[in-house]
Amino acid sequence: MTEMSRKPEAVAEAIRKAQRIAVCSHVNPDGDTLGSAAAMRLALTKLGKEVSLFCDGKVPDVLAFLPGAGEIRIPTGKEGPFDLMLAVDVSDEKRLGACTALREVSAHTVQIDHHPTNPLYMEVNSVDGSAPATAVMIREQLKVLNVDLTPEIAVCLYTGISTDTGNFSFASTNAECFSIMSELMEQQLPLARLNRILFRDHAMPQVKLLSRALGSLKYFENGQIATMKLTRDDFNGCHALSEHADTLVNYALDTIGTRMAMLAREAGGGKIKFSLRAKEPDTINDVAQAFGGGGHPQASGITMDGPLEAAMDKVLDAMIRKLNG
Ligand code: 5GP
Ligand code: MN
Repeated sequence: MTEMSRKPEAVAEAIRKAQRIAVCSHVNPDGDTLGSAAAMRLALTKLGKEVSLFCDGKVPDVLAFLPGAGEIRIPTGKEGPFDLMLAVDVSDEKRLGACTALREVSAHTVQIDHHPTNPLYMEVNSVDGSAPATAVMIREQLKVLNVDLTPEIAVCLYTGISTDTGNFSFASTNAECFSIMSELMEQQLPLARLNRILFRDHAMPQVKLLSRALGSLKYFENGQIATMKLTRDDFNGCHALSEHADTLVNYALDTIGTRMAMLAREAGGGKIKFSLRAKEPDTINDVAQAFGGGGHPQASGITMDGPLEAAMDKVLDAMIRKLNG
């Protein structure tokens, strides 16, 4: 079966048959992929499974509170064998990064994801492009697995749902989010404390990096497009990590009259990482896909070769054509 839909029963069947399970998150991990993985770790452990968590990337400091965050490993090529590999929130194989190698040592492969661009790359693909977060799908998956919510699982699911809905503000936010939230509140969810950690507190390097990003801000097409950039010098000068740039693009997008925004940052290995955003009804994922990237209609990304200015010119050109197209 290759059509895009939720398949919690098929995923549950694969899980029931497995004992050793590798749960994988995507590169440059965010709250949804790590919250979903952490929730599955707790649920699978309750079911008596041996669970290993993998991610080709460091857990951002802000997400270190997630139960099991300390157990997440970057695959070295020596892991396995596993009965099952479960990818959560991983929109395509490239986003598995080093976790791709786990496919070779896993008897079966499944995924749970909510990206509409997902090419259904596993044996069992529970993919719903209209779900606001993978963590929303994980809630349903736990029901099918007969695993009750706990306060710890609630923290994981809240993290995934709140971060992928922009703290319940994106157009994707729906009734399912709030009915799950009602269940999570019944598990003594420490909402105010987690909300501050996830959405209000900023590490000092992040605030300094914001200042550099705003210093680079440029508008095009009468302000309808906004761009920002961060060089290696900017990161070094602020003692900042890549994760500190993750939400800065929104400051450009939030300009009144701006329809699309770009943040380009110099990443390792001469690569340039783009964060692209659009306001409804504009979309930006097709621009990302034209350069080998992808993502959601209003939040997409690209990783491409530098140098920075040349890469920015190419993507800006495509954004201008899209705006006027
Ligand atoms: P961000 O700008 O926050 O890094 O990414 C926004 C969204 O774009 C992510 O949820 C992810 O789906 C997608 N994305 C980011 N970077 C890449 C990339 O390099 N390749 C692809 N295919 N998608 C990306
Ligand atoms: Mn997600």
